[in-house]
Amino acid sequence: MLDLKDFEYEELIEYLISIGEKRFRAEQIFSWLHKGVESYDEMTNLSKLAREKLKERTYVSTLSIREKYISEIDGTVKYLFELPDGNCIESVVMRYHHGITICISSQIGCRMGCRFCASTIGGLYRNLTSGEILNQVIFAQKDIGERISNIVIMGIGEPLDNYDNVLKFLHNVNHEKGLNIGYRHITLSTCGVVPAIYRLADEKLPITLTISLHAPNDEIRDSVMPVNHRYKIDELLEACKYYIDKTNRRISFEYSLIHGVNDSIDNAEELAGLVSDLHGHINLIPVNKVEERDFEKGSNEDIRFFQEKLVSLGVNATVRRELGADISASCGQLRKKVL
Ligand code: SAH
Repeated sequence: MLDLKDFEYEELIEYLISIGEKRFRAEQIFSWLHKGVESYDEMTNLSKLAREKLKERTYVSTLSIREKYISEIDGTVKYLFELPDGNCIESVVMRYHHGITICISSQIGCRMGCRFCASTIGGLYRNLTSGEILNQVIFAQKDIGERISNIVIMGIGEPLDNYDNVLKFLHNVNHEKGLNIGYRHITLSTCGVVPAIYRLADEKLPITLTISLHAPNDEIRDSVMPVNHRYKIDELLEACKYYIDKTNRRISFEYSLIHGVNDSIDNAEELAGLVSDLHGHINLIPVNKVEERDFEKGSNEDIRFFQEKLVSLGVNATVRRELGADISASCGQLRKKVL
C-alpha cells in the first residue's frame, strides 16, 4: 500500500492520472491530506468511486499521540508519537513571539554517534519516510488547533543522512496547496555530512542551515563527534562557505558547552578564529544532562564568560533560552525511556 503523503504534488497528479482520475483531484487530495484527515471518507468532495479506488491501492497515514507533556513554565508541548509499525519518535512545539515552532525528527534513532546525545544510543533503526516527517507537523498542528509557522529539523536523527526523504518533505511542506510554510521559516540542523551540504546548497532552497559544531578544533571534535573522523572542521567550513555563496543565506552554529571539554576561555578564542570570516551566529547551549553520558554543564558564570569572550572578539553569540525544562523536552530522552 502506498502513502500518498510520500508523493510530491506533481507525482500525485501523475499517479492519479495513472489510475484514471482527473488531474484536479490532486489539489483536493493534497489539501485534505495536509489538513490531517484520517480516512478517505473525510474527503467529502471526492466521488465515492474515487474514494474506493484510492482505498484499494493507498492509505491515509497517521500518527497517534502515545504521550504528551505540556510545560507549566512556558507552554512547550512535547509529543511522543507512535508510528503505524509501533516505533516512536519525538516532536516538540515551542511558542515564541514570532510564532509557533515545531522541532521534528528525521530518523528513528541515529548512527552519527555524538557522545553527548541521547538519540544515538542504540544506533539507527530506520529512516523516516517523507510522509512520516510531514505527519509530525500535520498532527501537532491539528492537536494544538493553531497554525505552526516555523520548523526546525533538530529532533531525533541526522536529516542529511536521510537526504531524499527530507528533501521531498521540504518540497511538500512548502507547497502552496499544503501547509505552505516558507523555506525561510525552516531550519535544518546537521552534524556535518559534508557531501550532503554541497548537494543541499545546489538545491538553492533558502532554508536556514545550522551546523552542530560543538568544538573549536579537530582534536576535541574527534573526541565528541565521530563524524569528524570522516570530515574535518576545515572541510566542513569550506562546505559552509559554498552553501553561503550558493544560497545567500547565513549559517549558524550550535555549540553545546560541556564543562571541562570545550568551554575554556582558550576554546572561545579558538572558536572565534574559526568562524569569524563566515559571519555566522553562534548558539551556545549548556549541555543537557543525559543519564548514560557523564558530561556536565558549567556554571552560569562559565557560560557567560565564554559568551562574553566570543562577543568581545566580534562574534555574534547568544545563549539558547531553555524551553520545556520541566518535561525533558530535549529530543531522544523520551523515546529512550519508552524503549
Ligand atoms: N543530527 C542533527 C540534528 C539534531 S539537532 C545535528 O546533529 O545537528 C539536535 C542538536 O542538539 C544538535 O546540535 C545536537 O548536537 C544537540 N545536542 C544533542 N544532545 C545534546 C545534549 N545532551 N545537550 C545539548 N545539546 C545536545
